[in-house]
Amino acid sequence: MKLIFLGPPGAGKGTIASELSKKMGIPHISTGDLFRKSIKNQTVLGQKVQKIIESGDLVPDALTVAMVKERLNNPDVENGYILDGFPRTIMQADSLSQFSEIDSVINFVIQDEQVIERLAGRRICKNCGEGYHIETLKPQKEGICDKCGEELVKRPDDAPEAIKNRLDVYYESTEPLIEYYKDKNKLKDIDGSGSVDAVMAETEAVISTI
Ligand SMILES: [Zn+2]
Repeated sequence: MKLIFLGPPGAGKGTIASELSKKMGIPHISTGDLFRKSIKNQTVLGQKVQKIIESGDLVPDALTVAMVKERLNNPDVENGYILDGFPRTIMQADSLSQFSEIDSVINFVIQDEQVIERLAGRRICKNCGEGYHIETLKPQKEGICDKCGEELVKRPDDAPEAIKNRLDVYYESTEPLIEYYKDKNKLKDIDGSGSVDAVMAETEAVISTI
């Protein structure tokens, strides 16, 4: 099954995608991970992306599309995939439709206030990258990673100003995709405001009808 997960930052897409990917045996493809991996491996695309990110610019659509297209050539997507963080613009969605036919778009619906609350409480281990939340996913010892004992920090893009920025970008570029996929009869709304378990259960129920 070929799925797109859509929704504002903090809607829980990544967490649900990661769990569902294990359950369904299809890869969870996030553009953030693709960027990080390609930079680490210093591929041709990776070197380009690195330069752009380091200069503080957004990765252009064409480059993002090229990277996803390359990823979807991997044989592990034979039975489907979950795209998380892509497409982000109408242009990206049009490009995607030229090389892969998706089955459904899961749209995680959540209010701004809750996004801000969730993202502001998010912490990440500066050593191993494990994610935590000061309210909903506490480490055993405050401020310390359960896995490796290192210090937990706030991600720079979770600072209040940065969150506002990310929401603005989402409403401007990505929200139009909701209408775009609704017109194609591919959109399924999910209430993203509940607990991870609740959102997961609803997502699975919706997917079973596709
Ligand atoms: Zn750690």
